[in-house]
Amino acid sequence: MQPVNAPHPETWLKVTPSGLWCEPGGFFIDPTRAVDRAIISHGHSDHARPGHAHVLATRETLAIMTQRMGEGRAGVSQQALGFGEAIGMNGVRVWLRPAGHVLGSAQVCMEWRGSRAVVSGDYKRRPDPTAAAFEPEPCDVFVTEATFALPVFRHPPAAAEIARLLRSVALFPERTHVVGCYSLGKCQRLIALLRLAGWDAPIHLHGAHVALCRVYEALGVPLGELRAATVAKKDELKGAIVLAPPSAIADRWARRLAEPVVCNASGWMRVRQRAKQGGIELPLVISDHADWDELLATADDVQAPEIWVTHGREDALIHALGQRGIRGRALHLVGRGEEDEGEPPAEAAAP
Ligand SMILES: [Zn+2]
Repeated sequence: MQPVNAPHPETWLKVTPSGLWCEPGGFFIDPTRAVDRAIISHGHSDHARPGHAHVLATRETLAIMTQRMGEGRAGVSQQALGFGEAIGMNGVRVWLRPAGHVLGSAQVCMEWRGSRAVVSGDYKRRPDPTAAAFEPEPCDVFVTEATFALPVFRHPPAAAEIARLLRSVALFPERTHVVGCYSLGKCQRLIALLRLAGWDAPIHLHGAHVALCRVYEALGVPLGELRAATVAKKDELKGAIVLAPPSAIADRWARRLAEPVVCNASGWMRVRQRAKQGGIELPLVISDHADWDELLATADDVQAPEIWVTHGREDALIHALGQRGIRGRALHLVGRGEEDEGEPPAEAAAP
């Protein structure tokens, strides 16, 4: 697709200490430090940092950033760009396509002088009632994550994992099921999946999860009845489902609930040892990142002759891409994988 004289994306999309820099456009994508002009793929803190002068993102990502960082810190000026709209930035055409990762998550698509690059941010291909589905954009260079880029990572259907949770709740009606999940994306997706599975009772939230659920609802994602989970309501929480940050499920807060069944929802729960070490009684393999098959299917779908890997297990992916005739390149971007499932905690040995 690239015209004969089109510049290779590596001549205009560069890795700098601040992150990916579109030189002719004069902007960074998901920069790791405060910059003048940033395009932000989604609201996780390893992609969306505070203090940029000008931020371009989807309306949803801007709202999430503002909630998390406060007015002003989420860009002195903000510019919303909807899916299907395009703008010119110093001669670079820029548009966003859904990434299917969390609400508002977008791939950043750029074209300069007939040469096209797409930076996916984080993405998944599974259906998610809280995020617009990933749309492949054919390009000359596709920039991908590789969080779960090993053949051992094949995520089961999320509905089957939710069914396991609900079976356990039915089996232990006197106990409280407390599910560890990150506050942006995973929490709201679990709620939506529970509602789809017919769970219409109130869902209880650790205080850390309340604010972003309200943002989702304000942006048009219905979550049903949500209640604050406080240890004072221990009896009310018998038979209930409580969502809490992963850091809270192992500490005193969770232990004071009624005979808690400690669950955790993460792609890393595929690694049994990891679940065991974390004291997880019911591991749920639910991920907001592409698994091995999804990474390779996406490589086929975007038809890019070259794929750059930002972070994760790049070696296995680059090897598999090479077998498909696709040139792979590891970018070694720093500062990624600090939120969501980006990186296994230190104790999680690779399988
Ligand atoms: Zn993310």
